Amino acid sequence: MNAPTKGSNPFLSAIFIPDPKAMTQKRVRVRFAPSPTGYLHVGGARTAIFNWLFARHHGGDFLLRIEDTDQSRYDQKALKELIADLKWLGLSWDEGPEVGGPHASYFQSQRLEHYQKYARQLVESDRAYPCFCTSERLEQLREQQKVNNLPSSYDRRCRNLPMDVALQRMRDGEKHTIRLKVPFHGNTTFTDFIRGAIEYQNRILDDLVLLKSDGFPTYHLANVVDDHLMEITHVLRGDEWIPSTPRHVLIYQALGWEPPVFCHLPVILAEGGGKLSKRKGAASVGDYRELGYLPEAMVNFLSLLGWSPGEDLEFMERKTLIEKFTLERVHPKSAVFDERKLEWLNGQYFLKREPAFFLPILKPLWEKAGVDLSKFSDEYLLQCIGLLKDRSKRLPEFVEFGLSFFKDPESYDEKASKKHFVPEAAALLNSLAGELEALGDFAAPTLEACYRQIAERLGRKAADLIHPTRLALSGLPFGPGLFELMAVLGRETVVRRLRNAANSIH
Ligand code: GLU
Repeated sequence: MNAPTKGSNPFLSAIFIPDPKAMTQKRVRVRFAPSPTGYLHVGGARTAIFNWLFARHHGGDFLLRIEDTDQSRYDQKALKELIADLKWLGLSWDEGPEVGGPHASYFQSQRLEHYQKYARQLVESDRAYPCFCTSERLEQLREQQKVNNLPSSYDRRCRNLPMDVALQRMRDGEKHTIRLKVPFHGNTTFTDFIRGAIEYQNRILDDLVLLKSDGFPTYHLANVVDDHLMEITHVLRGDEWIPSTPRHVLIYQALGWEPPVFCHLPVILAEGGGKLSKRKGAASVGDYRELGYLPEAMVNFLSLLGWSPGEDLEFMERKTLIEKFTLERVHPKSAVFDERKLEWLNGQYFLKREPAFFLPILKPLWEKAGVDLSKFSDEYLLQCIGLLKDRSKRLPEFVEFGLSFFKDPESYDEKASKKHFVPEAAALLNSLAGELEALGDFAAPTLEACYRQIAERLGRKAADLIHPTRLALSGLPFGPGLFELMAVLGRETVVRRLRNAANSIH
């Protein structure tokens, strides 16, 4: 952003710049406008979430608009994934692909006639002009500017063509782009909801292309035309779009339209600084789904990147987020993507949810890990989940430990065996098996009392019995409370596994 400047823009004085805080009277309409060129990045998801929360908070409309005019970069598979990711996050849209709406189509590639109409209108009102410069000439110009250490910009050669000549050449079908007539002097100002007034010098803005020679619009024209036609009241987007905004404001002015409220969201940095990227941890929503995070934890976590409700509140269910979300509490300071916080939040959701919530999520994961679920009742699965959920932070942990609920261990953790499966442990495990076979009931408190008694009798610490037992039952040195685990596994399985482990010790 260039430094604020003094001086006035002759185009600006006639234009009403809305006071962002006064816009709330209108029905709120916001949009998420991705260009589907790759996976949905967590930054994009954060933008979608802020728009969605803002719309839901105000009882307004949330639109999904696909900005796919750059056909060379457009990817059908990416679009499908994007839609699936938004649905997974639970961000329902009121207008857009699949649901339609009064402003359909919501794909920019299907709205070319709108952009062409307004580009033409701008030429006719002398706010834009056709540019017949060939790509070779523009390339040469850039080269020259580079050699002379000048910033690359169009030298406005075609701006001076007389209107009748220009129109005739257009009618003759000569290849051309349409460029905006950016004022030579003065500044363009807009008020960002979060950052206040932002001012750019017009002389650095260049006569930007609105319509390309193939009849496709640039991002700038399509974005402005659609935001206007779709009656968007607030534009919430990442702050990398700030430099585009003065260009958009100039287009609004040239068309005589009132711009929406702009609200640029702070950048998200990786931990330790720098941009968030694939290399610095996973950066797509799909990656986090694969890692075993719940969508509600993801939404909660991303909503805190640049916004906070105050009151030290972090764990917030969707309903609370909607209630509390206001733009006044979005701050301009960069946000840090702290994966440990995401993990903590996910764990909080695990604690809060009932075991039945996890059943449909975990069944496919367990099946994928080779478990034949037809052998186990839902009741049994719910008991297993009940033991696992409070100590897990991500879904794979249900699989990692959960497998011991379904099959006897095939091996024992090496380091733990060295410690707990010493030669004398074989006799201990066999004798524990014998005691448990004779035990009256097999509930957790009974098992605990039994273990304490045996320990006392042997003059050992309870831990000396607990560690080898845990390893014998699951093959792992960690897991849920041992006595609860034993009660769920049942007497037969416990006794068998203790004996198997004893036999494995040489
Ligand atoms: N298509 C742009 C993007 O990919 C939209 C930016 C905006 O919201 O104006 O992010």
